[in-house]
Amino acid sequence: MSYDRVRAVDEDVADALAGERQRQRDTLAMIASENHVSEAVLAAQGSELTNKYAEGYPGERYYGGCEYADDVEELAIERAKDLWGAEHVNVQPHSGSSSNMAVYLAVLEPGDKILSLDLTHGGHLSHGHDANFAGKLYDVTHYEVGAETGRLDYDSLARKAEEAEPDIIVSGFSAYPRQVDWEAIQAAADSVGAYHMADIAHITGLVAAGEHPSPVGVADFVTGSTHKTIRAGRGGLIMCGEEHADAIDTAVFPGLQGGPLMHNVAGKAVGFGEALEPEYREYAAQVVQNAEVLGEALKENGFSLVSGGTDTHLVLADLRDSHPDTTGSEAEEALAEVGIVLNGNTVPGETRSAFNPSGIRAGTPALTTRGFEEPEMRRVGDLIARVVDNIGDEEVYADVAAEVQELCDAHPIYE
Ligand SMILES: *Cc1c(COP(=O)(O)O)cnc(C)c1O
Repeated sequence: MSYDRVRAVDEDVADALAGERQRQRDTLAMIASENHVSEAVLAAQGSELTNKYAEGYPGERYYGGCEYADDVEELAIERAKDLWGAEHVNVQPHSGSSSNMAVYLAVLEPGDKILSLDLTHGGHLSHGHDANFAGKLYDVTHYEVGAETGRLDYDSLARKAEEAEPDIIVSGFSAYPRQVDWEAIQAAADSVGAYHMADIAHITGLVAAGEHPSPVGVADFVTGSTHKTIRAGRGGLIMCGEEHADAIDTAVFPGLQGGPLMHNVAGKAVGFGEALEPEYREYAAQVVQNAEVLGEALKENGFSLVSGGTDTHLVLADLRDSHPDTTGSEAEEALAEVGIVLNGNTVPGETRSAFNPSGIRAGTPALTTRGFEEPEMRRVGDLIARVVDNIGDEEVYADVAAEVQELCDAHPIYE
C-alpha cells in the first residue's frame, strides 16, 4: 500500500497518511480498543464500494446495481453467523455506538428506563452518559462494580433492577478486565421483565474464538464493534434472535442510517473470513495470554490492578496506591513520549475526574497482531513501569524509547 496516488493530487493529506503509517509502525499501540487489520481488509475498505448506494438489505434494495453489494453483505452476514452462532445479524451499523442506538430505537420509547454500568466503573458513553444522546433521551440508572473487588456484583445488580424497574439492562464494558456472567445478568433482566443488551464491543473477537463466554443466545440483543479484538475494520454489528430481526433491521435502516458503508461491510466480510481460520483462535488465545503476562509484570513492579488481574485482553492499573503523585493522564503522556500509546482511565471509586483519572488501561490485541508473545509482553510491562516510576526523567525516557524502537523494528506491521 502506497500513498502515491493520494500524493499526486494532495501532498498535505498524503503527508498525514504517511505520518500515521509511520506512527503506527514506530509505536506500541496499547489502547485496548485498537488493533491492526490485514492488508486485505484495508484494500476491501479502500474499494469502489465506497461509491455505491445500497439502501435496504440484500435482495431488497432501493437502488439498482446492487448485485455485488448484495454479495459482500451476504458474505459478511453468513460469516458473522458462523463466528458467533447468531440467528440474525445486521452488519450495517456504522459503529459500535450506532449499533447500540439502533437497539434502543428498536425497543425503547423516549423516557424509557436503561440500567447500565457507571462510566467510571467501565461502562460506555452510549450506555446512557449525560453527554450522550442515550442519556438525554432515556431515563438512566447505573449499577457499579464492587468497590473492593473491582468485579461485577450480580446480587447488587439484581437489586438495582428491582428498584429501578428498567426497560432494558445494558451489559458489556469498555474497561472491565474480567469475564462476564451473562446468565446472571439475564436472570436479573428476566426477573423484572426487561430486555437485555450485551454490548461486546471490546471482546467480539474473544467471544468468537471461545476465549470468553458468549452472550449470543442468552441476551436478547448482542451488539459489537468490528475493529477492536476482531480485525474487520471500523464499524459495528447487531445480533439477535429471529423474533427481533425485523425490528432491528428497520431500526438500522431507515430508522437511524441511510446508505450502508458498503466498503466497510466488505472489510467486515474479509475480516470475519480471516477470523474463521484456525490461526485466529491461536491469535485470540495469545491476546489473553499476553494480557495475563503484562498484568503479572506490572504487579511484580508494584502496580495494583483493578480486580487483581485479568482474564481478557486488557489490564486496568489503579495508580493511587503505587504512584499516588502520578495521575493516569500524566502516565499516559509520559508513556507517549517513549512510544507506548495507551490511555489514562477512570477506576472504580474514582477520586479524580474523567479528564485526569487515576488509572491507566492497557490492551494486548494490537501488539499480539504484531507477533508479540510472552517475552515481549513481559519486557513491555517492565518498560511501562520504568517510565511511570521515573516521571520527568529524560534519561530514562531516552533509554526506554530506544528499547521501544527496537521492539517495533523487530515486529513490523505492514510490509
Ligand atoms: C468501543 C465501544 C463502543 C463503541 O464503539 P464505536 O465504534 O467507537 O462507536 C460501544 N460500547 C463499548 C462497551 C465500547 O467499548
